[in-house]
Amino acid sequence: MTLNKLVRPNILSLEPYTCARNEFTGEARAWLDANENSRITEYNRYPDPLQIEVKRRLGAYRGVEIERMFLGVGSDECIDIAYRVFCRPGIDNVVAIEPTYGMYQVCAAINDIEYRRVSLHEDFSLNIDALLDACDENTKIIWICTPNNPTGNAYTREQLCEICRRFKGITIVDEAYIDFSPKGSMIEFLNEFPRLIVMQTFSKAWASAAIRLGVSYASPEIINIYNNVKYPYNINELTQRQALKALDNIANIENVTKELIDARKRLADSLATLDCVQKIYPSDANFLLVKVSNANDIYSFLRDNGVIVRNRCRVHLCGECLRITVGDESENNLLIEKLAEYVTK
Ligand code: PMP
Repeated sequence: MTLNKLVRPNILSLEPYTCARNEFTGEARAWLDANENSRITEYNRYPDPLQIEVKRRLGAYRGVEIERMFLGVGSDECIDIAYRVFCRPGIDNVVAIEPTYGMYQVCAAINDIEYRRVSLHEDFSLNIDALLDACDENTKIIWICTPNNPTGNAYTREQLCEICRRFKGITIVDEAYIDFSPKGSMIEFLNEFPRLIVMQTFSKAWASAAIRLGVSYASPEIINIYNNVKYPYNINELTQRQALKALDNIANIENVTKELIDARKRLADSLATLDCVQKIYPSDANFLLVKVSNANDIYSFLRDNGVIVRNRCRVHLCGECLRITVGDESENNLLIEKLAEYVTK
């Protein structure tokens, strides 16, 4: 299917807003085009609408050209814009694995798009045939989160490539947690699969959740449409500057990520010694999904002791499970201490 058939007709024919800063690059002698306040403060000018410097630096690190990158206000914007570009409200549908990250469904509901869930196998592996069977001619997107939230497992590139090959719509792979996983990014396959979109975020390995910066990597054609649809100055100047600071410190980010992966192993080992812990699922992310003897009771006990985890016991395939973020050493120790206290209570 060509991109033209997948994009909403009103978006294809959109006459986008052009901001003055799109028409001129370089140093002007007088900026009198955008009705800014010329009084010099640190933030009196509009930010770069296409965030070229951030994309240049991030792209150099990830090995991706600027034309293949879209920056959004967190993954939230990257998720929402996919619905707004591809899905006709009340007509189209999307397919997603179940369980997975909740925002795909919330954004579907907001945009009046039918959301079709396809269960993972009991061991959280993909059922590719079932995913494709759930699609019809109005299925625009398949959502795959890898490593998946809340299950923590990651899928192989062979499996993801198979979906890209067999599905005629847009495959979106959410790699929010990819830096914690030995499985490689799907970014490498952008050239091969023009209908593949890969999402990443500054909120996890980059330790910058507060700046709200998400990334979509895709074909230049898709990125061009995204740029036409987004708010003109979606990424503010403070966020762009802070992202550049994070990009100055990539070695540090990589070290912290390695340490977190070690801490995940130590935390899993400590949890395994506790009587109330029944199963620790293997994780490629910065959290552990843990099956316990009584999730509601343990969740409340931890909360009353100031330790907040995520109770996932009502989530499909996650009965009696808590999702526990790998914290710093003192947080992880406190968690283990309180769980040990729970056991002897
Ligand atoms: N994708 C997944 C799979 C997530 O689990 C999360 C955060 N919980 C996000 C995206 C959110 O990312 P952001 O902070 O970039 O909106």
